[in-house]
Parts: sequence; C-alpha cells; structure tokens
Amino acid sequence: MTASATPDEPPDEDDLARRLADVDARIDEAVRAARRQPEEITRIVVTKFHPEKLVERLYALGVRDVGENRQQELSAKHEAVGPLPDLHWHFIGQAQTNKARAIRAAAAVVHSVDRPKIADALDRAADEGHPILDVFLQVNLTDDPGRGGVAPAELVALAEHTAGCGTLRVRGVMAVAPLDEAPAAAFARLARCADAVRTVVPEATWMSAGMTGDFAEAIAVGATHLRIGTAITGPRPERG
Ligand SMILES: *Cc1c(COP(=O)(O)O)cnc(C)c1O
Repeated sequence: MTASATPDEPPDEDDLARRLADVDARIDEAVRAARRQPEEITRIVVTKFHPEKLVERLYALGVRDVGENRQQELSAKHEAVGPLPDLHWHFIGQAQTNKARAIRAAAAVVHSVDRPKIADALDRAADEGHPILDVFLQVNLTDDPGRGGVAPAELVALAEHTAGCGTLRVRGVMAVAPLDEAPAAAFARLARCADAVRTVVPEATWMSAGMTGDFAEAIAVGATHLRIGTAITGPRPERG
C-alpha cells in the first residue's frame, strides 16, 4: 500500500486491481444482504485529483463509469483520454450555469442538478451529439443551506421543473450523507425523497448514494449508483 499519492503518478496497477476486486466483493455482499440484484448497481469510480492515466488504467481493468467533481478537470481528462467505447463520465460536483455547455459536452450523466437555473442552463446547452442528458436531482440532507443540493421541501417543484426541460431526463435523486449523522438514517430520508420525486416523475428510479465509507448502507436503502473514490484509487493527490 502506498503511503501518499503524487499528482503525476497514477496508483500502482496491481494495487488498483486488488482494491477494485475487494470493493466489488463488498458491493456483492451488500447487494445479497439487501436481497437485491447485482445488475441494479452501477459502480462509479471517482477519479478526481488523479491524472488521466488512472482513468486509462481503470478502463483496462473493465471500469466503464468514472466520476469527476470539477468541470475543468472533467473537460481536460475527457479530452485527454479521448473516446473509449462505453466509457461514461459522470459529473458529480457543484454545477455552475456558465459551465453547463462544457459539462454537457463531456458528461453522460449529471448528478448535481439542484436548482431550476442549472436545469435550464443544461437544457439550453443541448447539442446534436447529446440529444438527451440523464440527470439526478441532488438533495441537501444537512441543515446547512450552503451545502450542495435542493432542500427536501423544494425537491418536488424542482423535479417538475426539470422534467419540463425537453432535453433532460430526470432519473432519480442524489445525495452525500451528512458528516454528523449515521448514513443509514440519512439515506432512509433520501429514499423518501426518491418516493416524492416519483409522484411527479414515475420513471425516476435511480438513486446516487454511497461513497467509500457508506456504500453498504446506501445499497441497503436502494442506491443504484455508487460513487466510490479512495477505497478503489487509494489516497488522492493534494488538490491542485
Ligand atoms: C469525492 C466524492 C466521492 C468519493 O468519495 P470517497 O470517500 O473517496 O469514496 C463521492 N461523491 C462525491 C460527490 C465526491 O465529491
């Protein structure tokens, strides 16, 4: 196990393969415990702060879904890696309206629609290459309005608004568990938020939840998209 990561060197290939297999085994175990099916789960590897070479190594190991939380980094890596069959880039960070076009050009899925303005900006950024964009509505499960995500009380209105954007497809809800609460309790609230969204968008059956420290709890309440970073990549380089 390497003690620290450097910005230029991606994690060692053998370490990566071992950690990936280990995480996948733990995912399988949690899926079985929840009496769910493995096909319901998309495991996204969060590659933020790591060099693009990491994405290429992960791809060689069979990974087809990667996640980035900053637009500039997403765009740069998407460009550097180039087109690879079936590789899906997920944008999981705070989205700014003036970056909507760049996000849409690189991402297959956006997990962080949290206000009507960003839905509108992504909708306007549609181009012929990406006729429909899959989006999650990000919910703020904390009491801190400064955190990303829409307040649960405003979620249904946001779902209705976003569903009215012709080039966006509302697939479900996304959240990060608060630091000061047991993840199982927080994710149970997210599951109720998902039910509320389905009263207006019945086909919104996806749930993006679960990171390195809490993916088993997320699987237990119905997560379909896991966003896992350090458990697979090892420590992240310092943010540049
Ligand atoms: C970084 C990040 C993750 C992955 O976190 P780990 O704890 O490294 O698994 C997941 N979701 C979001 C939104 C992130 O920014």
